[in-house]
Amino acid sequence: IVRMERVNKHFGDLHVLKDIKLAIKPGEVVVVIGASGSGKSTLIRCINGLEEFQQGHIEVDGNELVPDGKSSKALQRIRTEVGMVFQQFNLFPHLSVLDNVTLAPMKVRGWNRADATETAERLLNRVGISDQASKYPSQLSGGQQQRVALARALAMEPRLMLFDEPTSALDPEMIGEVLDAMRELAREGMTMIIVTHEMGFAREVADRVIFIDRGEIVEEGPPQQVFDSPRNERTQSFLSRVL
Ligand code: ATP
Ligand code: MG
Repeated sequence: IVRMERVNKHFGDLHVLKDIKLAIKPGEVVVVIGASGSGKSTLIRCINGLEEFQQGHIEVDGNELVPDGKSSKALQRIRTEVGMVFQQFNLFPHLSVLDNVTLAPMKVRGWNRADATETAERLLNRVGISDQASKYPSQLSGGQQQRVALARALAMEPRLMLFDEPTSALDPEMIGEVLDAMRELAREGMTMIIVTHEMGFAREVADRVIFIDRGEIVEEGPPQQVFDSPRNERTQSFLSRVL
């Protein structure tokens, strides 16, 4: 569902992504790990067109992104097919939880309010916050807000979900509830690319772990292999610092 070939990205003089080659199958759960500044966010932001790149190409569910953003049609389709959850929840503060979830399906997909509401209620129930639907984001805990963000992304019926450190801004006691919702989603067969520092979670849900260092994919493989017997010395040194 995702194919990246020789993707290179620079921010001015900084070479942030170096010859990235990556293929992801439908239903696969891929966890991306690496040190701060290694290019993890940039990598996943390129996949849904939030960042431009200068060389190579990216295909997402049959839509092709080309260098320097010259692919607005594909970009539009990718934005409706790919859901994203960020570290900061980015909910609309002036809208209720329910309206946060129904907005995009109504605006972008053209659903009527009744259908959008029914779907939103189902999704809020699924992430365990159906009782919060009429509240505003500021009235919720961080963990609840992040689950609203997840429900909002799922309301668009995405073919692929991207997560960029979804639990990093949460108090420790709220991390579990967000990871549980993600675990459930993985079990249901959603294709997911997850940037996280939660190594226990990564080991448990990932089909494949990718270690990125200074813009390069240095190592990838099943979690047991990458965590228990990393082949690359840079992976070993990173893991010895975080595990
Ligand atoms: P973290 O774990 O801290 O989130 P990361 O692996 O997600 O780090 P990126 O955010 O992808 O790293 O950043 C990769 C590099 O690109 C860093 O050196 C960063 O400073 C740089 N960078 C990111 N965004 C920009 C930007 N908009 N302009 C210039 N440089 C940027
Ligand atoms: Mg990042």
